[in-house]
Amino acid sequence: MVKIDFYGGVDEIGGNKILLSSNSTSIFLDFGMSFKKANDYFSEFLQPRKGNGIMDFVEMGLLPNINGIYRDDYLRHSGLNSTENRSVDGVLLSHAHMDHSAYIHHLRHDIPLFMTKDSQLILKVLEDTSAVSFGETLEYKKTFHLIEKKSLDGFKRLSGNDAKLERVVNIVEPYKNFEIGNFTIRSAPVDHSLPGASAFIIENNDETIVYTGDLRFHGRKPEITNKFVKEAKKSNPNIMISEGTRIDNPSTETEEDIEINAKNLISDFKGLVIVNFPVRDLDRLLTFYKVAKDTDRTLVVNLKQAYMLKLFSGRGYPELDDVEVYIPKRGWGLIGDNSFVCFDGQWLYSSDIDPSHKSYDYKKWEKEFIECGNAVNYIDIRENLKNTFSDVISLNLRN
Ligand SMILES: [Zn+2]
Repeated sequence: MVKIDFYGGVDEIGGNKILLSSNSTSIFLDFGMSFKKANDYFSEFLQPRKGNGIMDFVEMGLLPNINGIYRDDYLRHSGLNSTENRSVDGVLLSHAHMDHSAYIHHLRHDIPLFMTKDSQLILKVLEDTSAVSFGETLEYKKTFHLIEKKSLDGFKRLSGNDAKLERVVNIVEPYKNFEIGNFTIRSAPVDHSLPGASAFIIENNDETIVYTGDLRFHGRKPEITNKFVKEAKKSNPNIMISEGTRIDNPSTETEEDIEINAKNLISDFKGLVIVNFPVRDLDRLLTFYKVAKDTDRTLVVNLKQAYMLKLFSGRGYPELDDVEVYIPKRGWGLIGDNSFVCFDGQWLYSSDIDPSHKSYDYKKWEKEFIECGNAVNYIDIRENLKNTFSDVISLNLRN
């Protein structure tokens, strides 16, 4: 018999933390954040305190109180003992949206993660480009640990590479069996609003369980979701666990409809078009890349999107060279060669300032884009608008 415990994801959007346990093996299906519960207690400027280890999360019911699954450093700091062995044998990650992945941060590093290559890349983008305090998912830095000083008496904080702990990440391939304990599992790619989403077909001697994760039929790749439906049926499941946020919403607008509508809207327009959509939705980025091409325009992406396109090179999305990258003005405001700026008390053209000063304003992962041939800034946009009617269309497509 397989026992199924739902520690999130029931009567709410996302927050999936579903534990499957047979007599010898336990696996989590996702380990995500419940936005609803988190928003009951926290908001943008009021977040769980890192100094309290996992206790703020457990006290508020955001994390389940289970032995043998949490990071040793957080437990020690909360005055709790960690067990020697892990009590869960793995986490199957359906996709890298926060409501499915965010609380992996709190898990011990020796619980193996199973995910698609694209999900791993998205998590890497998040880890490298976001400054959130609970963002470590693929590796983490052991905190709250002291080590003896080498030369002097006393202790210092463990830091740098000594503190790094990499998680065990197993990349799953489409429809290839892998095993966790007595479960045999296959990943089934599905279409969703970010790359790498997967359903799972999970079997042991007693049950066949299908876990759909988040999926859609109206995106760019409905055929992969349809293939999953066929394969799921063939596996003759006796349990299916499914997402159903918009199950009663008969909307049939497809990604192609969005492409056609956007093209119609802007093809006769001469000015600047600004589009807002979720930053990690690469299918939507592809849509607007095509729209831009067909309307004789250039797609300009932001720095996070540029970093993502770099990591996803060769995986079916536009290459970095196919777009332009917008470099925003930061700190000292030295961007744009012919801008006149006050630098160290003197008014100068920024082209006369040592270029290394520009790069100080940017984070490590951003620096490589500043000097790339396809970088653009506010001056380029302004010059470009001079040739048009200076009008702007703004499209907001948050979903
Ligand atoms: Zn999702």
